[in-house]
Amino acid sequence: MRTRAAVVREPGRLTIEEIELDPPGDGEVLVAMKAAGVCHSDLHTLRGELRMQPPLVLGHEGAGVVEAVGTGITRVAPGDHVMVNWLPADETCPSCLRGQPNLCQRFASTTFAGKLLDGTSRMRTDDDVELKHYLTASTMSERMVLMEDSMIPISDDTPFDVAAITACAVVTGVGAVINTAKVPAGSSAAVIGCGGIGLSMVQGCQLAGCNPIIAVDVLPEKLAWATELGATHTVDASQADPVAALQELTGGGPDYVFDSVGSAGTISQALSATRPGGEAVIAGLHSVMSEVSVFAASLILQNKTLRGSFAGSLRPRVDLPMLIDMWKAGRLQTDKLITKTYALDELAQAFEDMEAGRVARGVIAFDS
Ligand SMILES: [Zn+2]
Ligand SMILES: [Zn+2]
Repeated sequence: MRTRAAVVREPGRLTIEEIELDPPGDGEVLVAMKAAGVCHSDLHTLRGELRMQPPLVLGHEGAGVVEAVGTGITRVAPGDHVMVNWLPADETCPSCLRGQPNLCQRFASTTFAGKLLDGTSRMRTDDDVELKHYLTASTMSERMVLMEDSMIPISDDTPFDVAAITACAVVTGVGAVINTAKVPAGSSAAVIGCGGIGLSMVQGCQLAGCNPIIAVDVLPEKLAWATELGATHTVDASQADPVAALQELTGGGPDYVFDSVGSAGTISQALSATRPGGEAVIAGLHSVMSEVSVFAASLILQNKTLRGSFAGSLRPRVDLPMLIDMWKAGRLQTDKLITKTYALDELAQAFEDMEAGRVARGVIAFDS
């Protein structure tokens, strides 16, 4: 069948074009996409800065309606509304059995290889270039074939855009606070970077009962969003040294510093700013090539912890429905993260707006 998709044939070259999509096979589902979140990971991948290299179809945050199912499908049926989980764990490997399905060993051959379960792709261009399934999701396409394990059912009254961004930005940010760091109530916290993930960290800190919650960014507009979503203080890092400012505001450094950016510079700042005995939690990934050097003395003599958090230590079938329910109950303001909606043809503009800091989260809306 035919679908229109955001294709990257080589680093830096984005085209919106019609491609050929095979029907769903064993254990696979065809989804008519209704919304796809625009994430920094998509932009870094377009530029060839992350692990998976083109040719591929972009997008990993998505929600839509099941249109058809292949053989052996038990969890969803045509007509069901679903959100896309780009970390479809097998629930049988040692990582999964340990309760860490975000580290499933199957991802090496699926999510990070851009292949479905049988090691192949369902997509190719009209000039016969086989396209990878970016993070087994490729949600920036009107239709997509996905693994059944990528399907998280949602109720029919759940907005597709809210569901789409919950599976990446929201869980990465909220999960870093409540799943990875398990922050105790009353902790002081800072969040570096106030895009979709950082603003979700702010909301996670609020859920966890942190005080103060200090947001750090270089754009005043983003700091204003952070205040709206629960930050008690802000630091404009273009005007002040964020490390000194955080230490001054907390009398020696926050208990927890969450970094949503993940560049060498912000990782160093997060670790430097935490109080002795505190914890720096890094949840953004700027580039797979980033390396960071730390002063051994500040880790050891100050008893600090430097911790990575991948996808908010996501347990897909537990956390994603929970986060949707939290939004429905008014405990999370996921919809407030969506600053702008675009058509698929406007994806280049969506990337430009994201880079310029004009949006917290952009979402592509499909009308087909
Ligand atoms: Zn993402
Ligand atoms: Zn596993």
